[in-house]
Amino acid sequence: MKKQLTNTFTTHRVRLTKMVGMLVLWLSMSTPNQILAQITAPVGVLYEVERTLFLETVEMLAHDSLEGRNTASEGSRKAARYLTSQLREMGVRPNESFPDYRQEVTFVQRWPADYVALKRYGAAMVESGDVMQLSGQNGIVQGETVFLEYGDRASIEKADLKGKVLVVRVGDGQKQSPGAWIGTGQEKRKLAAEKGAVALIELYEPGKFPWSMIRSYQKGGKFGLAESGADIAHLWVYDPGLEWAGHFSREKEELEIEIEGARMDYFTDDNIVGYLPGTDAELADELILYTAHYDHVGIGKADARGDSIYNGARDNAVGVATVLAIAQHLALFPPRRPAMFVFFTGEEKGLLGSRFFLEQNPIDPGRIRLNLNFDNGGYTDTDMITIIGAHKMDGFESVDEWLEDVAMRHYEPMPLAQSLFYQSDNIHFARAGIPAPTVSMGFTAFNDMILPYYHQAADSWESLDKAYMVNYIEGVLHLTKKLIDMEELPYWKEGDPYFEAGSALYKR
Ligand SMILES: [Zn+2]
Repeated sequence: MKKQLTNTFTTHRVRLTKMVGMLVLWLSMSTPNQILAQITAPVGVLYEVERTLFLETVEMLAHDSLEGRNTASEGSRKAARYLTSQLREMGVRPNESFPDYRQEVTFVQRWPADYVALKRYGAAMVESGDVMQLSGQNGIVQGETVFLEYGDRASIEKADLKGKVLVVRVGDGQKQSPGAWIGTGQEKRKLAAEKGAVALIELYEPGKFPWSMIRSYQKGGKFGLAESGADIAHLWVYDPGLEWAGHFSREKEELEIEIEGARMDYFTDDNIVGYLPGTDAELADELILYTAHYDHVGIGKADARGDSIYNGARDNAVGVATVLAIAQHLALFPPRRPAMFVFFTGEEKGLLGSRFFLEQNPIDPGRIRLNLNFDNGGYTDTDMITIIGAHKMDGFESVDEWLEDVAMRHYEPMPLAQSLFYQSDNIHFARAGIPAPTVSMGFTAFNDMILPYYHQAADSWESLDKAYMVNYIEGVLHLTKKLIDMEELPYWKEGDPYFEAGSALYKR
């Protein structure tokens, strides 16, 4: 494998040397106006400023002194300060809602309570071992139960829940993974809180996933967003045979919910947001959002070399540096469509900073016509770029041609890309109906070119193939330029699961 890398490096070096030669020749023939006209310029010349910024940024963010950029750590704050000053320097403006480029995000880390119980007339019906607490404060809340089967959105919206305890079954009866159930439960809790409920109880009937495994979800303290108003008591109750479900569907109970010894730690960190207006007034409502998460996992177990800093060069210093390089390019050559650049915190804690941004975004989501998200596990091939989700959208048909201009190619590994589509910040935007692919360094599989680095201390600046980094950023800049200037931006294919959400959002 090492040999292979060395060979690639040499071929790219040859190519680079050729390019430098072309640059000298081209500069000697050009007036400044011709240079600005940028029509016949070889690609490598055009992107010199951006390329330098890209490489410096990756090295800087992946430096040991940032200690792996754990969410809300001194390292992530250093990264945030760097990104803010870069945006300011290149002339990217703050969005009016975030005049200092910062959107503060508050996280809560919740540790399991010492004691949780459902009580009736002061006597416990169900106690700690059979209950998992997902939110709520210490103390006692009480109210009459309302049972709503799976508690789908329509039924919660119709019900009178003021002062009530909402009881439902876990999940939606279709999705079959604990992660999906947790997500659905959060939506139910939010809705129930908006409707004035004092608590949400979800009944869990074990199937493929035993209760002990479900409970281990909470071990070590769980990160979430501190959502004011939505922090009502939220419990999962073990219900083999759905006996409690049967009971609550027949009987209304006056329930007390007692929580003792729950500990919550609060942290704040920032999403970093910058803005550039577009030049075409007719496209003023076609905002493009360029996003990347700048947090990583911090300091962890030392590897065989004694290295315990998880630098996150691939994941995701590269993505962040890419967005910064695009911002630099668009600051120099203003785009037709307005551009917003967002660097998210809290991705590694469960895609939290991006969820907060979408939910608390001052901009109407219907104005965001495309989210280009940049995130990376690693790369397997050094002539390749991967767009995760291209298969779901129309508008990527010419990607191969575009990349050919810079001697690169596109590859989207299937079916891997189908599952990876759900594992980065883009997914929140997709769920809202916004076309939202994740652009990544090129890979064909999660194999031994990726796994030794993925969420490992070895994911460092030193272990990156620098020649590939140069080709990658040229490819991405070239591709992005072509993409964002198209008459029609990429859009969900008819029949795609998000096509309908898009129709509702854009009323098309
Ligand atoms: Zn990661």
